[in-house]
Amino acid sequence: MCGIVGYMGDRKACPILIKGLHRLEYRGYDSAGVAMVNADGNLNVFKCRGKVDDLEEYLKGKDDSGTIGIAHTRWATHGVPDNVNAHPHYSESENIALIHNGIIENYRVLKDALIQKGFNFKSETDSEVLCNLIEYIRNEEKCELAEAVRLALNKVVGAYAIAVLEKGNNDQIVAARQSSPMCIGLGEDEFFISSDAASIIDYTNEFVYVNDGEIAILRRHEPLKIINLENKDAEFNITNLDLSISQLEKGGYPHFMLKEIFEQPDTLVDCIRGRVSPETAQVILSGVLDNREKFIAAKRIIFVSCGTSWHASLIGEHLIEDLCRIPVEVEYASEFRYRNPIIHSDDVVIAVSQSGETADTLAAIRIAKEAGAFVYGICNVVGSSIARETHSGSYIHVGPEIGVASTKAFTGQVTVMAMLALAIGKERGTIDQDVYEKIAKDLLVLPEKMTEVLRQDSNISDLAKTFTYAHNFMYLGRGYNYAVALEGALKLKEISYIHAEGLPAAEMKHGPIALIDIELPVVVIATSEKTHEKTISNIQEIKARGGRIIAIIREGDTQIKKLADWVIEIPALCDYLMPVIAVIPLQLLAYYVAVYKGRNVDQPRNLAKSVTVE
Ligand code: GLU
Repeated sequence: MCGIVGYMGDRKACPILIKGLHRLEYRGYDSAGVAMVNADGNLNVFKCRGKVDDLEEYLKGKDDSGTIGIAHTRWATHGVPDNVNAHPHYSESENIALIHNGIIENYRVLKDALIQKGFNFKSETDSEVLCNLIEYIRNEEKCELAEAVRLALNKVVGAYAIAVLEKGNNDQIVAARQSSPMCIGLGEDEFFISSDAASIIDYTNEFVYVNDGEIAILRRHEPLKIINLENKDAEFNITNLDLSISQLEKGGYPHFMLKEIFEQPDTLVDCIRGRVSPETAQVILSGVLDNREKFIAAKRIIFVSCGTSWHASLIGEHLIEDLCRIPVEVEYASEFRYRNPIIHSDDVVIAVSQSGETADTLAAIRIAKEAGAFVYGICNVVGSSIARETHSGSYIHVGPEIGVASTKAFTGQVTVMAMLALAIGKERGTIDQDVYEKIAKDLLVLPEKMTEVLRQDSNISDLAKTFTYAHNFMYLGRGYNYAVALEGALKLKEISYIHAEGLPAAEMKHGPIALIDIELPVVVIATSEKTHEKTISNIQEIKARGGRIIAIIREGDTQIKKLADWVIEIPALCDYLMPVIAVIPLQLLAYYVAVYKGRNVDQPRNLAKSVTVE
């Protein structure tokens, strides 16, 4: 999720905060805001939807004085991006201001309890709930701010990096973290806070990284104090960061695409959090629970999507047909909308789009709604048109995707589809309990399995060097992996401009086999247990014609290892989830080939991130 910055010292806080927010812009966001305590002790909050430049404009003529302040860029998860939902949030009495990155999972219960106690809420955010909870506890317990924060955090489930200020106190900031990044910069009698050291590297290179479950108490003219949620002092180390600004932009990666590829274990944690219980391995998807009768009665499911989202939908088709026994069709939104499609009122239409603004997908939604179908959205951007125009849906919660070639949105979409299939299958009674548990447990370990695959980065980079000569690539897969083949080919096309075709492996002999020669690299996604033998036959066919094979295999697959020219081994999961990790080497291969060919990876020619025209 997005960014936070904080400052306390002798200088004017606001310019430092604004500069820090600019440095965090690479993370992507939809609104920005600042809060400062001025010399009279007034707590001023200024915030707006839009860019940091818009915030600067808005600040003109306002009281932006004060040597203590906190600032935020928001990536909406709860409530549309607008001025009210932007951070900082005031507490009910406006005595406390809070910024938050992350998601408070149990905000609904806490909010209901606070409403019972007479609290009113201005925003739709989970963050305002935490702010009011701190105020409630502060008043009830008559305790100091840091203690109120600690007690409140003991009641919270979720992910957060927060910073809190209080009216009448320009000597203290309380900050805390759980699963969202946060570091404290140490200056000469001054403190900085940031979600990324890059934003404050101009001022200091001494940093303390706050750990999960820790609260940092920053008091003027006093040393940094860090405690844990049990109120015990926590030890900390000071890290010296000798990094230049240019190294730190894009989180230290040379391109957004690489940053987003490497972010995927974390974005999957965000995607799964609160939806698969680590204790019971139960999947809870509110969009399905709230509309269970629609899914139980569904005679057919139609996916409408474009590009990478269409590939994810093909995997959704397998998952839902396998686990829910509902017939599924996968449509290009652009074809569907112009084809006079047959839609029944007992159809469920699932619209998939990263941005939630894809013009063809939106048009398909409108047609489906007019025909009386129930329409479910799967998208990333909170409050986007697709989120607003569908009857219900699930966000993928993978944070802003800036690289034009989609990576983390694909893995988030497939993960949501797996959870969707489990939730619907359970409601319909079509899923075997053992299979349900196996998939749910594998979902929980997906992030760590993905990390294992990412460790092969430098091998894949070396492999990519071998293929910069190629003018064509072929990608083959069967079953779930056919969609992975299509997605791998699309990544390569998009950013390296090399022609690539993705095919169902058995289709090759119906024509494309004519292309195979010593020049043609063929990437075979061979991780499926179900079609292992068949895939081996396809590999033999390619070898017999001199083709060069790069195989993505399950760890320990000695048979294919012997046959292929290069192999990339990935950890074993159930077939249903293999696409989520099998795509990683293909993303990296496309990335490195493009880099070695000197392409503009983040902004490839002729492409736009969000296709809002038909
Ligand atoms: N969940 C919070 C919101 O939707 C914070 C989002 C963020 O990390 O920026 O406002």
